[in-house]
Amino acid sequence: QAKAAGRNTYVLYGPELGKTAHARVDLRRALRYAVRNGELRVHYQPQVELADGRIVAAEALVRWERPGHGLVPPNSFIPLAEESDLIVQIDSEVLRHVAADLQCWSENGFPLPKISVNVSARQLYRGRLLDDFRQVLDHYPAARGRLEVELTERLLVDAVPQNRRVLDALVDLGVTFAIDDFGTGYSSFGYFRDFLIHTLKIDRSFIQQLAEEAADARITLAIIGLAKTFDIEVVAEGVELPAQQAFLCQHGCARAQGWLFGKPMPTDEFIAHWKQARAV
Ligand code: C2E
Ligand code: MG
Ligand code: MG
Ligand code: MG
Repeated sequence: QAKAAGRNTYVLYGPELGKTAHARVDLRRALRYAVRNGELRVHYQPQVELADGRIVAAEALVRWERPGHGLVPPNSFIPLAEESDLIVQIDSEVLRHVAADLQCWSENGFPLPKISVNVSARQLYRGRLLDDFRQVLDHYPAARGRLEVELTERLLVDAVPQNRRVLDALVDLGVTFAIDDFGTGYSSFGYFRDFLIHTLKIDRSFIQQLAEEAADARITLAIIGLAKTFDIEVVAEGVELPAQQAFLCQHGCARAQGWLFGKPMPTDEFIAHWKQARAV
């Protein structure tokens, strides 16, 4: 099962994907075309305050509306894109899209405090992430102070001083950082000492069996405690059940994201959901 293999392995699934070198070449060509021709979509998944259910942020998640294939999920094409500079184009495209939406929502009286975007290592360190952010914030000033970048632990551990300068420059632009899938990678306390991290996202794998697995509950408590110690926001990922919500709420996790509060949705649907949540 692709999911069980973990996020850092290169797993391509679906009958048409990854079978042969030939299929990969075809897929890469189709994806390159898709990026150029606007087949990428950005969906938003709400992040809520557990105490009152208020939507306080959202995560931007890319999808590929591939003709004849429906809506293709990121795990089916991001790993392939990460093998080349295609990922740089995809992440740039998503960032631009998100910033444009933030600008539009702000002009229409719905300023969402924060949207997080996922970036890949190649985009961050070898790509043009800093230039992208500069351009996008110039063009969409309402996005300033409202963008968070989700990084994986692996990506931070690999950060050499030259890369650190990219991160510091982004901080100067008002960008904040979240560590995604926290607890599954190579943790280092160094990035806490440097106060670079704004948010920890507890990986869904710990949340799934929160009620049944004592070890998962302890890990979750430890991460919540860690976040408190360093005065960092903590967000639980993949909350699906009221029992998980209750546990998190009771143990001081302020924020969560998961199907219980909303799946990733297209912009229009997200706006409707958000307006409705504000009204109650
Ligand atoms: P992620 O950043 O950890 O995103 C969270 C994933 O968990 C999303 O899958 C989301 O739909 C899913 N999820 C959220 N709540 C629940 C829940 O309650 N239950 C379950 N079972 N799943 C839940 P998605 O959208 O398929 O994205 C998968 C991964 O693809 C992301 O993991 C991220 O690493 C990557 N990705 C997505 N968009 C982008 C992008 O624009 N750029 C890059 N570089 N990577 C992206
Ligand atoms: Mg993420
Ligand atoms: Mg995650
Ligand atoms: Mg995850």
